Amino acid sequence: MVKKDSVVSLSYTLTNADGQQLDKSAPDKPFAYLHGKKQIVPGLENALEGLAIGDKKEITVPPTEGYGEFDPKLKLDIERSNFPKDVDIQPGMQFSADVNGDNLIFTVTGLENDKVQVDGNHPLAGQTLHFDVEVVEIRDATKEELEHGHSHGPGGHQH
Ligand code: ZN
Repeated sequence: MVKKDSVVSLSYTLTNADGQQLDKSAPDKPFAYLHGKKQIVPGLENALEGLAIGDKKEITVPPTEGYGEFDPKLKLDIERSNFPKDVDIQPGMQFSADVNGDNLIFTVTGLENDKVQVDGNHPLAGQTLHFDVEVVEIRDATKEELEHGHSHGPGGHQH
């Protein structure tokens, strides 16, 4: 059964509210995570609790239980002079910055004269997520995995 400190392997398909596929596990390589350690979004983790190997479930996760609501205040125009001179700033570039104590990933979305437009929202912020999951494997976490707070692949530590 899926419970705290299990390593759970899932095959899954993730679609948004429009039915658009956003992500999918590889056919021969299920996605593994350590249950109860916030490695996955809370709405998904809570819904998987108690499932057994072979169980299939459709799970709908609202933004508050997923990647958060879209926050327009995280869309900012920053003076070009605040970035290093020798870096060629281009849309799509990412950098991290502390906002009220949280470390957020910002993506450059545009350039206008001496302003750099950035967005600190998660790409899936504000989206209702639909997960179609099947539990492929459940095992107890090793001592090392519990110490690290994440699961390890078949070959040991892989990150
Ligand atoms: Zn590790």
